Amino acid sequence: MIRSSGGGEFMSESTASTHAIESHVRGLCDADLRRLYATGQDTLVEAAIAIARDELARRGIPPRSAAEYWRDCRDEWFETIGFCLECWSTTTEGEPDPRSFQTAFDPDGDPCPDCDSVPVVQTLRVLFIPLRVMGRFRVARLDRGVLVWRKRRE
Ligand SMILES: [Zn+2]
Repeated sequence: MIRSSGGGEFMSESTASTHAIESHVRGLCDADLRRLYATGQDTLVEAAIAIARDELARRGIPPRSAAEYWRDCRDEWFETIGFCLECWSTTTEGEPDPRSFQTAFDPDGDPCPDCDSVPVVQTLRVLFIPLRVMGRFRVARLDRGVLVWRKRRE
């Protein structure tokens, strides 16, 4: 299943054959296919984008850029991406390392008025003393309660 913030499983052509990509992409529902094409331009391998473009054409669905997808399919966008276009496009794929148990998250600014996502900073702590910044993220909550993360550009 494609994760909402992108399509990490397609990032390396060496780990997924074109055939596996093709059968996955062609099997997506319309909404997932629209989102994959609109939001995967920077992160998916070229083969996946080409197959998605072809499959959209076959179904008679216009291929949309991220901005067009945000404009035309707002509910669909929010349902699985969680972030508004601004918060999405000023961040990249990436979530905190789940193994970093000695870390804490602190708010690092106001929630976005459009999508309620919150900028946070993850710090490594020892005995509650913050030692080092591990990463800066933006976190949003999908309607179904799932938290989604994006890495903020430094
Ligand atoms: Zn936002």
